[in-house]
This record gives sequence, structure tokens and C-alpha cells, in this order.
Amino acid sequence: MTMVIGLTGGIGSGKTTVAERFGRYNIDIIDADIVAREVVEPGTPGLTAIVDKLGTDILLTDGTLDRSKLRQAIFDDNSLKDWLNALLHPMIREQMKADIAQATSPYCLLVIPLMVENNLQTMAHRLLVVDVSEEVQIARTRQRDQVDASHVKKILAAQASRQERLDAADDVINNNGDSNELDDAVSELHQQYLAMSLHYQ
Ligand code: ATP
Repeated sequence: MTMVIGLTGGIGSGKTTVAERFGRYNIDIIDADIVAREVVEPGTPGLTAIVDKLGTDILLTDGTLDRSKLRQAIFDDNSLKDWLNALLHPMIREQMKADIAQATSPYCLLVIPLMVENNLQTMAHRLLVVDVSEEVQIARTRQRDQVDASHVKKILAAQASRQERLDAADDVINNNGDSNELDDAVSELHQQYLAMSLHYQ
């Protein structure tokens, strides 16, 4: 079985950036955000269940899920969020497992933003945490999303703390530095993971 490296970190910590660096070594990447979209594509049991519950009004004219309408529906009815999570989380987990089974690189990356919050590190053999200071996290998210600091702080407060993530980590990648420092850190981890992966083949 392929060795699975779980990759997580808080908002704006650099998960996508780090995953892309591993991708340069042709490592297969399974991204929970992408899988979460796949399980509600037209024709899926996920989208069918949502339409059964909320009616065809929840679809755009092209038959895809109207995400902004769904966000509004959740805002209007809090219990809908629990219902959706109960429906979609098992589907997302199963699809991620299927994608892991299809991986062909020596090890694969499983990127899950809320991995520690949802205790999903059990799906991986090791957990790699992207760590940045709160100041850097807020500054980069503000710049990327054009939002103010209080908006980012609210999201930070709803996520696991930096320390909780570090406590769960097997490996930590410090992303406070520049792009070259990140390249070096990923290169070093990649070599370590290649060596470890021999035990899983
Ligand atoms: P989210 O969970 O919010 O989707 P993320 O953890 O995937 O975020 P990224 O989108 O990879 O984070 O990074 C956040 C922003 O910081 C991006 O605009 C990215 O280009 C930038 N960034 C990431 N790492 C660095 C770095 N080492 N130096 C400068 N900018 C960086």
C-alpha cells in the first residue's frame, strides 16, 4: 500500500503552496476540497440526495449545485449544515480512500484543511503540518482574499490552534520564510519520505 502523508495547516498557512511543491516531484495529491466538489457533481448520489431534500431550486440552470444558494439555505437553517455533513463526510472519506488506492507515486499526499479538527489524521501514516506565525497567516490571507484582519481572525478562532496542530504533527514545515526556503524544506522532506516509503511497498 502507498504511504500516505497527511498535510494540514490553518487558513493561509500555505497548504496549497506546499502541495504544489511536492507535485513537482510527481507525487500524487489527493485534496479534500477537490473531492468535496466531486461528490456533488451532477449524477452523483450526493447531489441527488441534496435535490431530494431541497428541491431543484438548489441547482443552477446547467444542473450543477448552486453553492451560493446552498450557503444561504444553511445560513437560514442551521440544522441543514449537520445534515449535509452527515451526508457528505462519509462520501468524501470513501472517495479519498479510493483515490489513495489508485495512487502510483512512491507516497501520496492527502491534503485536508480541517484534518486535526475532524480527527482525520487516522487516514494517513504520518501527519505533516504547515506552520506559520499568526501574523504571517493573517497578512498572507488578507492579501490573497482581499479581506480585513478581523475576518481572518474569526476563521482562525474557529479552527484548531497552532499548538493543537503541532501536538498532532509527526513532521512540521515552517513556512514563515520565502519561496527558496520552502523549496529546501520540501526537498528534504521528499527525500525522507522516499526512504520511508520503501517500508510500505
Ligand atoms: P487556505 O486554507 O486558506 O486555502 P492554504 O493553506 O492553502 O490556504 P496557500 O493558498 O497555499 O495557503 O497560501 C496562502 C497565500 O500565501 C497564497 O497567496 C500564497 O501564494 C502565499 N504564500 C504561501 N507560502 C508563501 C511563502 N513562503 N512566501 C510568500 N507567500 C506565500
